[in-house]
This record gives sequence, C-alpha cells and structure tokens, in this order.
Amino acid sequence: MKLDEENKIIYVRQSWLGDMAICPERARLGQVKPEFRTGSDATIIGTAVHAGIEQVLRGEAVAFEDMLQFVNNEYETLQDTNYTVTNIEQDKIPNYLEAMSLAFYNEILPNVKLGGEAEFFFRAPLNVNVEGYDIVLEGTMDYIDPDGNIWDWKTAKRVYNQKEKQKSAIQPTVYTTAVRNLGMADNPTFNYGVMVRQETPKSQILEVTRSAEHTKWLQHYVKGAVTTALKSGYQNEWLMNDSSALCSSQWCSYWSVCKGAFNLE
Ligand code: SF4
Repeated sequence: MKLDEENKIIYVRQSWLGDMAICPERARLGQVKPEFRTGSDATIIGTAVHAGIEQVLRGEAVAFEDMLQFVNNEYETLQDTNYTVTNIEQDKIPNYLEAMSLAFYNEILPNVKLGGEAEFFFRAPLNVNVEGYDIVLEGTMDYIDPDGNIWDWKTAKRVYNQKEKQKSAIQPTVYTTAVRNLGMADNPTFNYGVMVRQETPKSQILEVTRSAEHTKWLQHYVKGAVTTALKSGYQNEWLMNDSSALCSSQWCSYWSVCKGAFNLE
C-alpha cells in the first residue's frame, strides 16, 4: 500500500492484499522494514525462469537453447544476491531450471497468443474511495495477450488446486479488474501457466474466471484492508497469524524481528 498524500491516492498491489490475508503484521513489516524483504532460492529460480520466458515472448530467444541460456545466466547472476536457502536440493537446481523451461517452451507456449506485452505495468482505478483517498490498483502482469487475456507464470513445488484458486485467489481478481477498468477487454481470461519444480518437465494451465461480481467483492475487500491499515497506523504491531505455512525462518523475511526473536522450540 502506497500513499500519495498530495493527490489523495492510495496504490494497492495484490501482493500486499495477499499479505494482509495471510498475516497482517507481515504486510505492516513490509512497509516499515522494506530492507528486510529478501527472496529465497525458490524466488530466484522463479525469477530466472521468468526472465527466459520474457525473452521468448519478446522474440529475443527463439530456439529452446536460447531460452535456457537466458535462464541459466540469470540464475548465475542472482546467486550473487542475498537470498535464503530453503529445503530445495541445491544440486538439482540446474535440472529443475531446464525441466521448467522445457515445460514452458513445449507445453505452455503453444497455448499463448503472441504479439502481446510481457511485464505489463499497470495502474487502474478501482472506483472506490476510502477516507478521502481514491484507490488505484497497481502491479505488473507477466503477460497480456493482444486480446487483453492475462497470463501469470508460476514455478511451484506442485500443481495448483483449481477449486482453491477459483474460490479465493486474489491475483486473478485484481488483474482482471484492472484490465476491465482500463477498457482493454470486457471479459478477460486469467491463466496460470504453472511449471512444476521437478526433474522431468511438468506443466499445468489453470484458468480462473472472474466476473463483475468478483470486482464488487474486491472493492469491498480492499475497503476493509485499507481502512484497517489507515486506522491502525504503522507505529505498532498488527494482528499476527503464525499458523500459516509461510510463518517460518525460510518463508517469512521478517522472522528475525517477529516470531524468530522469541526463544521458542
Ligand atoms: S514471522 Fe510469522 S507472525 Fe511474524 S510477520 Fe512473519 S508470518 Fe507473520
């Protein structure tokens, strides 16, 4: 959440809304301690594969070998940054990178309509005002095709659960609302292109549908989140949820200044 006091605008990202849902304190710490925000080996694997995909979609990498070269180079560069090592078997990472790249190139790419925009940055009105501030949705879509249909690439441990994503994933709601409100398409589709982190290529294309009713729900949901943030202020702690799988030294960047600061078993 970003406040533009002069123009009375609040910018909201889907990742912030996601954090608010998982653990509000995590969303607060993201604002007040941005220097703690670090990625993990899973993050840099994802970033490297995204970089390769982007090159393919921009026509910079045509053959699979070119894509893989981009992916490996990006991974090598990212290895010099500060990131957390999780339980991913490190010696298998080169195989994972190749298998996920193949999964994209051979299985997902043929389903993507080319000629759109990769890494599409957007700002779109949500048509909601909270305490005098207009809410604007902000973010970067992995890919939007020429018809306004959206793709998001995921490198994941396992395939996604269709029912779960359809029921409550916030990202498809935010992105389809943005496309509608920017007048780019009336009824955009949202697809996850999932590449599974394993040594043999495995992919999943998962479509999530979002209607105008989902947009109304989003307006209501954002009102609640922004009002909570504005009323609570950032000085003191917010509600903590330590029961999510992400509450750990490996998956929460703020662990050391939150639960990890306590001497717990
Ligand atoms: S350590 Fe746990 S409770 Fe604290 S911010 Fe992270 S997820 Fe939330």
